[in-house]
Order: sequence, then C-alpha cells, then structure tokens
Amino acid sequence: MNDSKISRIGVLTSGGDAPGMNAAIRAVVKTAWSFGLDAYGITRGYSGMIDNDISKFDKRGVSNIIQRGGTILKTARSKEFQTPEGRKKAHDNLKKHNIDALVVIGGDGSFRGAQAFSNEFDIPCIGIPGTIDKDMAGTDSTIGFDTAVNTAVGAIDKIRDTMEAHERLFVVEVMGRDAGYIAINSGISTGAESILIPEKKADLIKLVNNLSQKEAKQKHVNLIVVTEGDEYGGAEGIKNYLKLTLPGADIKMCILGHIQRGGSPSAVDRLLATRMGYHAIKCLLEGKYNVMVGVINDKVKFTPLNEAVKAKQTISEEWLTIAETVS
Ligand code: ADP
Repeated sequence: MNDSKISRIGVLTSGGDAPGMNAAIRAVVKTAWSFGLDAYGITRGYSGMIDNDISKFDKRGVSNIIQRGGTILKTARSKEFQTPEGRKKAHDNLKKHNIDALVVIGGDGSFRGAQAFSNEFDIPCIGIPGTIDKDMAGTDSTIGFDTAVNTAVGAIDKIRDTMEAHERLFVVEVMGRDAGYIAINSGISTGAESILIPEKKADLIKLVNNLSQKEAKQKHVNLIVVTEGDEYGGAEGIKNYLKLTLPGADIKMCILGHIQRGGSPSAVDRLLATRMGYHAIKCLLEGKYNVMVGVINDKVKFTPLNEAVKAKQTISEEWLTIAETVS
C-alpha cells in the first residue's frame, strides 16, 4: 500500500556506466508498480532531465533487461546541470510530468548532482551506487564492481596462458582512476607477482630487484597488474621503466580498458542491483529522503547523500597485507 504523497517517480542513470544498472532500473520500476506508482525513465542522465527526454515506462518497458550490460536509459555527463539555471530547467521538466521523486543510479559525482538538486527543490532524491570502482562510502560494494573484476580476471587468465607460453613479463592495466579495488581483487585472483594501486606508493626499486632475482633464477614469467591511475602512468609508464632497468627482459603490456565496463552483469551484481532498487522505492515511501542505499555486512543501510559524497571507501590493511604476502 502507498500512504505517502509520492505517486510518480523518475529514474535515471548518470556518469560512468556499470554492468547491473539495467537490473537496478528494472527493480526500481517493478517495485514502484507494485506500490501503485507510475515510473518514468529519464534518458541520458541529467542531460535528459534538462532536455525533457522523459517518458513513462509501459508494461513491457523493463522486460528482458536484467541480463543486459550498459543501461537502457543511456548515461551522460552534464555541465549544464552543475549550474543553478540547468537544475531549474531540469526541475521544471520533472514538474511537467508531475514527477514527485527521483532515483539516481550512478557514482559520487551523480550523487553530488542529486544533493544540489534536492537542496534547491522539493523533490526527494534517492541514490543507488552504480560504479565499477567500488570506492564509495556507505556500502560494501557497488553495482558493476563484481562483474568488472570477473571480466578482468577472465582476460588476465588468457594473458597468462600466452605469457607462460612465451616466458614473458606482462604488465596488465585495469580500470580505476583513483581506486585500486579492481587491481587488487583481479591481481590476487590471478596470482599476480605484483599489484600496483594508487592507494599505496609503489616501491619500484624493490620491484626491479625482485624481478632481477627471478630473471637470475630463469623465472621469466611475471605478471604485474597496475591500476590506470597509478602514479607512474599505468601500464605504459611501468613498462617503459622496466625496459630501462631490465634491458634484457621480454616485456609486453596490455590495457584492458572499456571491456571491463561492458558485458552481462554477474549474479552478484544483479542481486545487489535488485536489492538496492527495491529499497530505493521502499525508503521513499517510508519518507526517508535524500539518502543513498547501501549494503553493509548483508544489511541494507541508508546514508544521507551529503555524507555519502564526502567519504570514500578505502582498501583495508588486511587486503594490502594479503596481496603483499601472496604476490
Ligand atoms: P559519476 O557519477 O560516475 O561519479 P561524474 O562525476 O561524471 O560521474 O558525475 C555525473 C554528473 O553529475 C556530472 O556530469 C554532472 O552533471 C553531475 N554533477 C557532478 N557533480 C555535481 C555538482 N557538484 N553539482 C551538480 N551536478 C553535479
């Protein structure tokens, strides 16, 4: 039953895309319907809100999407939404459709936008964390992270086959501008000899010493997983450094790039997205406004948007130590 004042919700995906966003859209829309609400899809994030690219989901609007990567609503970045004038246009368009509340699926940038919007207008916003980077506070994981790690692991396993065959040293770059979660999880899972992440200053002298000792023992196969945001310039920077310091070594590199964003979401991401989408609507109907839905220790938690955007999740000392120990 719906006793709240909310009868129409809008949903959008914004910022970087992540596998599982479709599963979140589906859960938001289906839960809204189950409480008798109408659901509207806003195309291309905040840009679509400003351009009035808004339409009501029809009965089959979220059919056959739970397994699809990307986002059926498209995503975008909008400079105009960062201005009060842009947000006013967006608000006027929501009002044209009588939309009472907004569900924003995206990363911390998108939540900053949602926070600015809800500060200015009487339209409650709920954030669902969708980003492959995982580094958001208020939740143990984010939609897309598990899939991205599995994609990276699958690709690195294949690289290891050819690396072993040729007895080479390989530097593989995974995504993460500021966060090393994909690197540490995929690096540990693929038995990487070294994992370089932005959160911890890499000791390149130690790295080269280790590699030299291994070369001396005729162990030529070495896998280095590096984050794109690493201070030495990702895979390219590390490869160039190693070529200079280990002139005899056969070194190749591979940047995994955008394949990590695409593909069918894992079951873990589909479940997380469905759980978060369901609770986004439930919390709106219970009058919990301007919060991000998270899951911590398998319990749903709501964090005010203004707190969620201030803090970052950081890799635990335990995992840093494990990575160092087993590399
Ligand atoms: P993500 O959500 O993946 O972190 P971005 O940082 O690119 O992605 O943010 C997505 C969009 O959110 C931006 O293009 C902009 O429209 C909006 N946004 C980000 N920060 C703000 C802000 N401080 N005020 C208003 N809108 C913002």
